[in-house]
Amino acid sequence: MIDIEKIYQSVLNKEKVSYTIGVELIHYPDKEKLYALADKIREHFCGNTIDLCSITNAKSGKCSENCKWCSQSAHHTTNIEEYELIDKTQAVNEAIENAKHGVNRHSLVTSGKKVSDANLSELLKIYKDIKTHTNLHLCASMGLVEVHQLKQLRDAGITHYHCNLETAPSFFSQLCSTHTQEQKIAVIRAAQELGMNVCSGGIIGMGETAEQRVELACALAELGIVSIPINILTPIAGTPLENAQPLTEDEILSTIATFRFINPRAHIRFAGGRLLIKSYQHKALRAGINSALTGNYLTTSGSNIDEDIKNFTASGFTININK
Ligand code: SF4
Repeated sequence: MIDIEKIYQSVLNKEKVSYTIGVELIHYPDKEKLYALADKIREHFCGNTIDLCSITNAKSGKCSENCKWCSQSAHHTTNIEEYELIDKTQAVNEAIENAKHGVNRHSLVTSGKKVSDANLSELLKIYKDIKTHTNLHLCASMGLVEVHQLKQLRDAGITHYHCNLETAPSFFSQLCSTHTQEQKIAVIRAAQELGMNVCSGGIIGMGETAEQRVELACALAELGIVSIPINILTPIAGTPLENAQPLTEDEILSTIATFRFINPRAHIRFAGGRLLIKSYQHKALRAGINSALTGNYLTTSGSNIDEDIKNFTASGFTININK
């Protein structure tokens, strides 16, 4: 068996955790020890501040892509609200409201393979208004965008681009055949080359193995990702994953802890599906998490921001409020 204390010390000494060690960690039998050391790594590199972000679903549904988990794909029959582009006033008001409650960064998210130039120009107007009315840092999640579109976003003051790897490189093609993970990596690299921070993570509980979750964590470390959302699949009726077997508490917490060992400095972010683990979310906050997507999610209702702040504070965190 691995000497987990030794691995912990090597992480503090800024040594990289390999895939092989990551697999040992995710299967480590003394779970409490694994979680406690992941928590100490989080505290060492990131302190006790929690970073909150929120999203607005700016374009919903009718997506040409066939991602098996997603309610917005036109390949599946789901019961979601669909619209071409959100009303500007509504989007700006949502952002203002979230800022008032203590959110640090806000993102506009669009369904579809990539945003069109026409929609992007409308979305840039929304960002401009959000900047006028709030101090929010800004993020965008608009699919497989072109470099000229990333430049437009960056030049408008959007500091973060979000593009999930979604799952392990060895599993992606079993979940989506209309685009590849390599295309996503190309967008991530282009955003980084333009000086943008990248938020990229995935969804767990889609039928991948524990080893594939480690593979995802290593792929994100390789790309130098600074913000890693971990979504827990919320199976949606009408999608191919509607009957996916839920992960156990230990599987979820071991994944979070292993992500922390492999990505010691990143914002490991609670994201979609978090309400599924409400009864033990305080344990996740002591197993490597240090940030959260709060408020509503894309097509599922999310968490109450005030309640989140209360829970995070009760777990010993202070909130990184953008004033
Ligand atoms: S995850 Fe994105 S690209 Fe895939 S179907 Fe959903 S909206 Fe489309």
